[in-house]
Amino acid sequence: IKRQAVPQTPLTVEENTLVGSVSTTTLDQWSYYYTHGAHLAGKNLSMAQWTADRWTESGWNSSIVSYDVFINYPVSKSLTLTYSNGSVFQPALEEAVLEADETTSYPDRIPTFNGYSASGNVEAEYVYVGRGQQVDFERLKALGVSLEGKIAIARYGGPFRGLKVKNAQENGMIGVILFTDTADDGKITEANGYAAYPDGPARNPTTVQRGSVQFLSTYPGDPTTPGYPSKEGSPRTDGSAALPHIPSIPISWLDAKPILAALDGHGTAGDLVNRSGWVGALNVSYSTGPAPGARLSLSNVMEETITPIWDAIAVINGTNADETIVIGNHRDAWIVGGAADPNSGTAVIVELAKAFGKLLEQGWKPKRNIVLGSWDGEEYGLLGSTEFVEEYIPWLTDTAVSYLNVDIAASGPHPSVDATPELHQVAIETMKKISWMDTNRTMYDVWYEDTDGEVGVLGSGSDYTAFVHNGIGSLDIGSNPGAESPVYPYHSNFDSYHWMTNFGDPGFLAHKSIAQYLTLLAYSLADTDVIPFNVSNFGVQMNSYYDDLLSTVKSTSSSVETGPLRLAIDDFTQSALQVQQQEEQAVASGDAATLSLVNSKYRDFQRGFISQGGLPGREFFRHLIFAPGSDTGYAPVTFPGITEALQAGNVSTATEFITKTAAAIKVASDILKI
Ligand code: GLU
Ligand code: CA
Ligand code: ZN
Ligand code: ZN
Repeated sequence: IKRQAVPQTPLTVEENTLVGSVSTTTLDQWSYYYTHGAHLAGKNLSMAQWTADRWTESGWNSSIVSYDVFINYPVSKSLTLTYSNGSVFQPALEEAVLEADETTSYPDRIPTFNGYSASGNVEAEYVYVGRGQQVDFERLKALGVSLEGKIAIARYGGPFRGLKVKNAQENGMIGVILFTDTADDGKITEANGYAAYPDGPARNPTTVQRGSVQFLSTYPGDPTTPGYPSKEGSPRTDGSAALPHIPSIPISWLDAKPILAALDGHGTAGDLVNRSGWVGALNVSYSTGPAPGARLSLSNVMEETITPIWDAIAVINGTNADETIVIGNHRDAWIVGGAADPNSGTAVIVELAKAFGKLLEQGWKPKRNIVLGSWDGEEYGLLGSTEFVEEYIPWLTDTAVSYLNVDIAASGPHPSVDATPELHQVAIETMKKISWMDTNRTMYDVWYEDTDGEVGVLGSGSDYTAFVHNGIGSLDIGSNPGAESPVYPYHSNFDSYHWMTNFGDPGFLAHKSIAQYLTLLAYSLADTDVIPFNVSNFGVQMNSYYDDLLSTVKSTSSSVETGPLRLAIDDFTQSALQVQQQEEQAVASGDAATLSLVNSKYRDFQRGFISQGGLPGREFFRHLIFAPGSDTGYAPVTFPGITEALQAGNVSTATEFITKTAAAIKVASDILKI
């Protein structure tokens, strides 16, 4: 049965002003500006200032906040494959430089590298390790493949790349090569007859995914200042807990193919390894190796530094100083372009600021403070946002209602939203107000078709992380190419203005819809009398996480007592219902004092889910209801302290975290109680 389209929700006068002010012409201008200059962390001060200037022009109070962080920059690298017969293959290592991308005009364009890679010079036989998850290494060991002292070649996709390097290092390997496989490009491949970029939408064979290899699962932010802000003169650790000790570099599929091919016939063939995501689409057998005598020689030289980075911040003060909505996006990129990552999001928040400027001109003042952040250093490990949260945590704990994140606002026509449960309803209702990409369909209808109406759970990989793990509910919005045609030149020079205007989002229509969406969502959160949370949905979602937990208990044959968790969720459900009734009565009777009390409960309840000691082995990650998986980095796990302990067969930790999680839910519930 075909689902009935939901009619577009009519807008108020103010909402019409906001939506009507969003223009593809200015979005295009912002995109053009941001995609034509250096973006690397610590090298983009002029863009920070330009961003603050645009916000000031729109009537916001803008400033620049700087942090001194430890990062490294690439100096030189080399990679050589020597076959057992002594002949050699020399990979190109760099991407094609295209007129279309204007990369020709940037001689200081950024080479391919991994942020936070160790420097090193290693030579050894090598092993293909699939996606490089712990389970992949377990499988290799079960197959008797020797890992100690070898170099790993790992396929991108699945877990965060830093965890691939961490797992290789923990298995005694001495270097890592990361490559992109065309199997992850869906149907849009040269093999299926599509021309490669810049002539068509298929992946350019020289595409390389740059990216950070910090461990992320330990803690984000400056690795040398865990838990506190990196200001000038701050004390520092050596950061080694969060950083790799072995060198790594990323390469293209074109460079990877001969390296993989040299393993054919050695070790176990790919189809017999029997691991998901192991066999890709290159014409090789994806054998484990090692191949006796086939050796890689890898050298990587990085320059370490402590350098300032710059967050641009803007504020509109609300009539109520005690409640704040924060909206953020990162500004740094690995490349000169970065049209999708992050500049589609950056264009969106500049446009959002301009839209609110229209209301400010009419003398409007929001009920709550609105704060904008243009974060630097996200790519290295969420540096700018994490350091900001670490500096302003007392004020954020007192006043933050929600954090709204936009990273890749537009890389295709499919909208996607992840959020903490209290935000699901307003996130969905706002989609019904937006016409998607100037069509007669709402954003809601398009999104529903992809997702069956399920808002995703936040893991990590972008700037909401430090907010969530300090008990500030968050939402992450963006759009992507969709499951059928997921080709997007992520962290590559080909993520350029030319790519965006020809393939990613011609006409800037996805940019426009996402800008309108984020603006209306921020407006609802900042200006409605009652904070538009559905706290009951937190109970509903926890019930579903609880069912998942019971399945994990069953599948791991663990004997644990989950009763305390059951009781705590039921208690929360009751409190949520009561506070919603209190809200309804106060709205009906116009009781301002009670409404203000309800608002403060809504603002504060999520702080209760935060545990002082954090999750096992990762103090930073303190939200006990969801967290990035320890070995996924990006993908979330629910009731993480309990679930991961069960998966590791650690019943006593699981039991400890049932107690802690139940207690945390009880604290959140007590904050809502009337
Ligand atoms: N978004 C970036 C990436 O996925 C940074 C994530 C991180 O380091 O936490 O590479
Ligand atoms: Ca820090
Ligand atoms: Zn990004
Ligand atoms: Zn990125």
